[in-house]
Amino acid sequence: SALLELAGVHAGYGGVRALRGIDLTVEEGEFVVLLGPNGAGKSTTLRVLSGLVKPTGGAVRFGGRDITRVPGWRRAGLGIGHVPEGRRIFPDHTVLENLRLGAFPVRRREAKLLAEVLELFPRLAERRDQPAGTLSGGEAQMLAVGRALMGEPRLLVLDEPSLGLAPLKAAEVFRHVKRLHTERGLSVLLVEQLALVALRLAERAYVMERGAIALSGPAEDVAADP
Ligand code: ADP
Ligand code: ADP
Repeated sequence: SALLELAGVHAGYGGVRALRGIDLTVEEGEFVVLLGPNGAGKSTTLRVLSGLVKPTGGAVRFGGRDITRVPGWRRAGLGIGHVPEGRRIFPDHTVLENLRLGAFPVRRREAKLLAEVLELFPRLAERRDQPAGTLSGGEAQMLAVGRALMGEPRLLVLDEPSLGLAPLKAAEVFRHVKRLHTERGLSVLLVEQLALVALRLAERAYVMERGAIALSGPAEDVAADP
């Protein structure tokens, strides 16, 4: 069965119906991209995964477990690593402190994980004792990815990691994410505005429109759709 499965998920904000029956899966080891215009419901879909938004219908299963009603504060250990929109790093804390915050609740393996993440991101290693607020945009995004990896996720979920980055910096972030996928077999769910770039990275794609899945399939087929 799929690593992640959303089945007929409905959700909204007060009277606003943001999701109208979303079916979406990510298989073990798969790289999936979620595209669509502003307001389509992409962020809301990710908020359903993090527990910030409670579905009013349908089910969310992860690793064979129904997590639909698991509240946000109890989801840390489930194995979903979130790289939130806008990165949300703590600017006054050092790079190391920011990474350690991601280790909760797997503290036992913190030192080993920290060494792994610093090896993956040499530029973070060089700046480990500096306040995270002094990092460039690209470095801050790497830090957000590194922090998510500290939780030993089975699925990495990224919300528009290219936002606010120069094209070359965005490409560098994407290269790192792709490498995590190909070399470590990490499953990835990526929300992106840069559709053409994302479709080249991913194996499968969903396109959302007005709270529903308008199109889905192999990334190359979706890319060829007019
Ligand atoms: P996307 O991420 O694709 O841009 P969103 O999931 O943010 O789309 O938004 C889906 C719909 O839900 C839109 O109509 C949006 O205006 C509405 N929405 C999103 N966040 C909120 C919120 N916090 N309160 C009320 N409505 C919201
Ligand atoms: P990017 O294109 O990746 O955003 P920048 O041109 O913003 O890169 O930054 C280049 C380098 O300068 C980076 O290594 C970053 O850490 C450093 N840097 C940027 N802003 C500051 C700052 N306010 N204080 C200290 N170092 C900074």
